[in-house]
Amino acid sequence: MRIHVWAENMPLEIHEKEMRRIYPDGIEGALAAFLSKEDGFEVTVSRGTDPGFGLSPETIGKADVLVYWSHKHWRDIPDEAVERLQAMVLDGMGLVLLHSAHASKIFSRLVGTKTQALEWHEDGEKQRVVCTMPSHEIAKGLPRSFIIDSDESYGEYFDIPQPDELVFITVSESMDALRSGCCFRRGKGRIFYFSSGHETFPVYYQREVQTVISNAVRWAAPKHADWPVMTIEKRRNDA
Ligand code: ZN
Repeated sequence: MRIHVWAENMPLEIHEKEMRRIYPDGIEGALAAFLSKEDGFEVTVSRGTDPGFGLSPETIGKADVLVYWSHKHWRDIPDEAVERLQAMVLDGMGLVLLHSAHASKIFSRLVGTKTQALEWHEDGEKQRVVCTMPSHEIAKGLPRSFIIDSDESYGEYFDIPQPDELVFITVSESMDALRSGCCFRRGKGRIFYFSSGHETFPVYYQREVQTVISNAVRWAAPKHADWPVMTIEKRRNDA
């Protein structure tokens, strides 16, 4: 299974130094490190600062699943790249959106709301991630709930359509609650949004979080028989 990890990696201003202290290889490096240890996962990486925003057909055209982390430059991604991503998901590529990718253009395109706005505060509160669907593939191997010691708090109202499957909710110390693990199906594609992982907290080193993301990649991987025939290259050749 070919997994491509993309992180925005554009200047984070006040957070840059703190992020580099916690994630010396960037968020993308931390994600790729645990994903590449999974059986059968072949992992590649690109960043928003790479040519073509790291999202060119040459870079991501062969991915079975794209893992996508972004922070604040959501609107800088050109529409053309977003349209291509949307087409790839509708054709069956899995998409796992992490943390601030809730506000990404690609999430808007796929779920139909404008900004997927939510409430937020960055004070490093303790978070409890609660599983609402223990039979789901993404909940496999996880307890009924687990604690993340520090993360940004996100809360409702979260402007998304009701997810096709809601696997987790997260409740912060200040009792904000969020639909934090949401599955959507669009065309042949599967999309999972998971809210944990602010860049100044070491969330992606936590075993339970890694399990959620690895499970989500397996769940989102293309299931239909004609994949990987419908790659972006094929669409281009057909055109
Ligand atoms: Zn954040």
